Amino acid sequence: MSFADIFGTAPDGSWRAPGRVNLIGEHTDYNDGVVLPIALPVEVVVHASARADGRIAVSSVGHDAVIEFAIDELAPHSVDGWAAYPAGAVWVLRESGYPIGGANLLFDSDVPTGAGLSSSAALLCATFVALLGLAEVEVEPAEVARLAQRAENQYVGAPVGLMDQTASMCCTAGHALAFDIRSGSLDQIPFDPSADGLTLLVVDVKAPHRHADGEYAARRQSCERAAAQLGVPALRSVSVDELDAALAKLDDEVDRRRVRHVVTEIKRTEDAIALMKAGRLRDVGPLFNASHASLRDDFEITVPELDVAVDTALAAGAVGARMTGGGFGGCIIALTASDEADAVLSAIEKAFAEKGFAAPSALAATPSDGASRIN
Ligand code: ADP
Ligand code: MG
Repeated sequence: MSFADIFGTAPDGSWRAPGRVNLIGEHTDYNDGVVLPIALPVEVVVHASARADGRIAVSSVGHDAVIEFAIDELAPHSVDGWAAYPAGAVWVLRESGYPIGGANLLFDSDVPTGAGLSSSAALLCATFVALLGLAEVEVEPAEVARLAQRAENQYVGAPVGLMDQTASMCCTAGHALAFDIRSGSLDQIPFDPSADGLTLLVVDVKAPHRHADGEYAARRQSCERAAAQLGVPALRSVSVDELDAALAKLDDEVDRRRVRHVVTEIKRTEDAIALMKAGRLRDVGPLFNASHASLRDDFEITVPELDVAVDTALAAGAVGARMTGGGFGGCIIALTASDEADAVLSAIEKAFAEKGFAAPSALAATPSDGASRIN
């Protein structure tokens, strides 16, 4: 159904916000490290019109119902299901004193949900830019990202960091976004695989997320415990040169491996940024491979589907490959020569069929622009 079929008028405008994938810097955000996401060419589009009665009505293609609520009656968790995301955006805008009015919103997305490509941040950011656009209020993209994080943390109740929303708001085409969590700095790093005859494949391995929430909490606890034992505010403060000395001070063998992942991953991320700035994209491949090995062996958050996808991509000629996202499912990325991308993907599909895994799905990740108005 079209916007006019549902709401009886044409939309006043349309906005978009993309999903994201992190190139490298995994589980470094809550250790004050550096992350390096790109915005994906898949996005949430929202068509919107203003209404005068202080109510918000939301609908999403593929979801039947229109869900409606009054702006001034919202309280955390008062709307549940998928509409909690747009309701959370409205609640945060109201709580922050932005003069937003009622609206009809129709979402239409090609970001896969629950695959780790952050459809949730895209949905939130699309809602924010549409409501602010309708109200003709200008807010810095990085600030919108902070508002969106607050909506996901406090309204939806998901303890997410700031990377996904920042990527969806602040990325630019042809670049990866180096987001230094400690300093808050955002740096656009040239990243245009096609210019080097390369393709970045994102492969959703379709593995069910097994125990992901509890394991995530346990990883955070390990890192916090180790930082406290080392007397540093966060593991970012430990350099690779100091790693052996730091490990010798930790009594817990598991914590030691978690720390080794974080400290070496932050170094790999810094190295990847330097190589990309120097135009040496192919040389980033081995850093992807080392990142995956560290996430598999030291951080222990891979599953067979992720390992098989990475190993198969490399055996089929990929320049580099790694799991990306929180782990225990989700996606891998593989950097391949563009004329070998189809062969790499076929090899993964064949290996998955042989192992009895679900069929994977893939997209070519052109680094795209953050959220914007379409018309
Ligand atoms: P991810 O962000 O990795 O895709 P999440 O579990 O954080 O996974 O977010 C997925 C949830 O976001 C969905 O279950 C749904 O509630 C909501 N969502 C995402 N995109 C849409 C959409 N286009 N329409 C409705 N709900 C959506
Ligand atoms: Mg999400």
